Amino acid sequence: MDSKILQSFLKENLADLKSKGLYNVIDPLESSNGPLIKICGKEMINLSSNNYLGLATDPRLKAAAIEAINKYGVGAGAVRTINGTMELHVKLEEKLAAFKHTEAAIAFQSGFNCNMGAISAVMDKDDAILSDELNHASIIDGCRLSRAKVIAYKHSDIADLRAKSLQAKKSGLYKKIMVITDGVFSMDGDIAKLPEIVEVAEELDLITYVDDAHGSGVLGDGVGTVKHFGLSDKIDFQMGTLSKALGVIGGYVAGKKELIDWLKVRSRPFLFSTALTPGDVAACITAIDILSNSTELQKRLWENGNYLKEGLKGLGFNIGASQTPITPCIIGDEIQTQIFSRKLYENGVYAKAIIFPTVPKGTGRVRNMPTAAHTRVMLDQALVIYRKVGLEMKIL
Ligand SMILES: *Cc1c(COP(=O)(O)O)cnc(C)c1O
Repeated sequence: MDSKILQSFLKENLADLKSKGLYNVIDPLESSNGPLIKICGKEMINLSSNNYLGLATDPRLKAAAIEAINKYGVGAGAVRTINGTMELHVKLEEKLAAFKHTEAAIAFQSGFNCNMGAISAVMDKDDAILSDELNHASIIDGCRLSRAKVIAYKHSDIADLRAKSLQAKKSGLYKKIMVITDGVFSMDGDIAKLPEIVEVAEELDLITYVDDAHGSGVLGDGVGTVKHFGLSDKIDFQMGTLSKALGVIGGYVAGKKELIDWLKVRSRPFLFSTALTPGDVAACITAIDILSNSTELQKRLWENGNYLKEGLKGLGFNIGASQTPITPCIIGDEIQTQIFSRKLYENGVYAKAIIFPTVPKGTGRVRNMPTAAHTRVMLDQALVIYRKVGLEMKIL
């Protein structure tokens, strides 16, 4: 029997979202998520994936996954702490630790559940967490789950962080205090001010946690934002994902051995959710090997990012102040942004509109994610389409 309350709740709220243009329609891909994608039978230039290095379709990763599936099967069969830990998982964690220049690492099934599990394994209701106001949803949820007092500080505002940390410290209310930040902020492409954050943390004895989902594979010769600043021994939690630049799936924390030992007995997704599949783990290991041995893919990613940025800026678009290959094209008005994205789509460029509440009101943007796998021809074609739509909509 259908619940009447549920029915009216869903009807009302879905209608509300649709009337405000906030209901997200999903377009399924009929291809891999490479530089070109197929949707509804139409091939388009893809500027929306997080597949920064093109590794999601790399033949070496595919071969490693197939080989592992043939040897170990498709599923791990249990959670990590029962008997779902295969030799592959151990190897992945050793590789991650070496890659991140830390003593140890722990792998999770996703970046999202890694943040949920890792933050709440260490922080509790007697603690406080200073969190950048633009931090990712999984950080926000992980902080909430921990029941620690969450104190948001203004985006990358070190004076605000220092003042609020000092106040928390002086209050004497909290046993432990953590500062947590994205390494690279995905909506604007700006980099966290880690050296200053570390300075405040050292001054006030704060635990440091960096979520480097968009920095790993991209900054610091691919190792990430922490390495970019030369701070590998100064950050307690180096969290990252295996699903963006690394092209597969999974999340991890790299850090001191004792921290990782603790997470292996206390983080709930590690204890209560089935381990990463053997095929995925083998592909991740291969991805880390590729990144450890060459910076060729990063070089191409940055070249493509710079090329697209220069091109859009040259046409007269507002591309914000990104410090990474993430290239926002800021339109402003929410409805205009959505129309802009739709017109790009009709002309063969897939670049999603990102609007309030994901970004502040009046800063609606089409966000472009160039990758190492894009060719100059693809980027030139995208720029031609951007120009056409920009002129059509009188934005240029
Ligand atoms: C994407 C993302 C995550 C989640 O990672 P998944 O592996 O996709 O679950 C966590 N944090 C940040 C900052 C992200 O951008």
